[in-house]
Amino acid sequence: MTTTRFAPSPTGYIHVGNLRTALMNYLIAQKAGGTFVLRLDDTDPERSTQEYADGIKQDLQWLGLNWDRVEKQSERLDRYNAAADELRASGRLYECFETPTELDLKRKKLLNMGKPPVYDRAALELSDAEKDALRKERGAGHWRFKLDQERIEFTDGILGDLSIDAASVSDPVLIRGDGQFLYTLASVCDDIDYGITNVVRGSDHVTNTATQIQIIQALGGTVPSFAHHSLLTGPQGEALSKRLGTLALRDLREQGIQPMALLSHMARIGTSDPVELRTDMAALVEGFELSHFGAAPTKFDVADLLPLTAHYNQALAFGDVADQIKALGVPDDMAEAFWAATSANITVLDDLKPWWELCRDGAAPMVDDEDKEFIKQAMALLPDGAWDADTWGAWTKAVKEATGRKGRGLFMPLRKALTGMGHGPDMSQLMPLLQNGMRR
Ligand code: GLU
Repeated sequence: MTTTRFAPSPTGYIHVGNLRTALMNYLIAQKAGGTFVLRLDDTDPERSTQEYADGIKQDLQWLGLNWDRVEKQSERLDRYNAAADELRASGRLYECFETPTELDLKRKKLLNMGKPPVYDRAALELSDAEKDALRKERGAGHWRFKLDQERIEFTDGILGDLSIDAASVSDPVLIRGDGQFLYTLASVCDDIDYGITNVVRGSDHVTNTATQIQIIQALGGTVPSFAHHSLLTGPQGEALSKRLGTLALRDLREQGIQPMALLSHMARIGTSDPVELRTDMAALVEGFELSHFGAAPTKFDVADLLPLTAHYNQALAFGDVADQIKALGVPDDMAEAFWAATSANITVLDDLKPWWELCRDGAAPMVDDEDKEFIKQAMALLPDGAWDADTWGAWTKAVKEATGRKGRGLFMPLRKALTGMGHGPDMSQLMPLLQNGMRR
């Protein structure tokens, strides 16, 4: 049974980088008919908030990335305590008393000597009496997992065969001096207990994975398959990490980006598969292959979401947008014709608003100097009475005969005169709406 998880910390809203992780895990579960767990990594009580937890859920729901179960690390402290006891009993967890400043100094010394800044395990040498003394002086220590200093090897679903020398990695801290469990231990316990079979996360977690494999083994768990996706960069390859705050999913939603447009893009960038609009989840699952993703950083440009969103919106049936159109104030008997006329001229649905304002209020005519006389003549030929779908054709024919103008020189000045703009919906469809709108 394939079980995956998405494990955000509720310390902020999720952004496109998180979405990449969430989506890959979701699609793996979907494809296998398995289970997708939403796990809130909220062991940090100061930074985790209910508001962010709710926000993350709303964002995932907006995208249709529904989870089969939700779990919270903050509710599992007993389990983490028991795991810590187990590791202590087997000699894999040891207490350390260095202050952050001392650790920093040790790191700097090693770096100055051209050595990797790996923790020197000095705490392993402490006698019980020394530890008692330190505990009295400094309070409870923090606890590190004692790595087996051998090569840790695994086959990554994206990066291929990896081999990491545990001797080049510091023994990870699992419990802080204040008793707070760190993510590493909590994550391992959860992955074991929830039967997680596949973990996909960012390539910044590769070293974590190596150490977590040893912790899982020390706790008698089954090691899942790991895969690490590349990190996103901006369109020019620049680091995106600082800008991710501005690429929160809720901001994209606010900008009118369509969920399926966003998902279609995120499920394929970084592969050589074409990025095409998929309009439902089944189609997205269909061509998804984890092994198609490359190791190189993946370029992300928010502008790429617009054509996909336009494509999605323009193909919507009237019934899908009827409520939004009504909300704009378009009278019911005009609504369907309004959508037919304007749908090809929008990117986001909010673009409907200016078209409705044009129909309702009309526009100040835009007349170029050389067209002044022509427009005067044309206006005199505007048919009286109600404008319908044939009005534009009949009118332009009459103007053509009277003035001899044709093609763009005929149509463009007329469009500008009626709409105040050089582009827009098909004029045959727009003219009845213009007259009708202004009458209301
Ligand atoms: N809470 C962790 C993070 O957001 C989860 C990493 C993981 O997938 O294990 O980085």
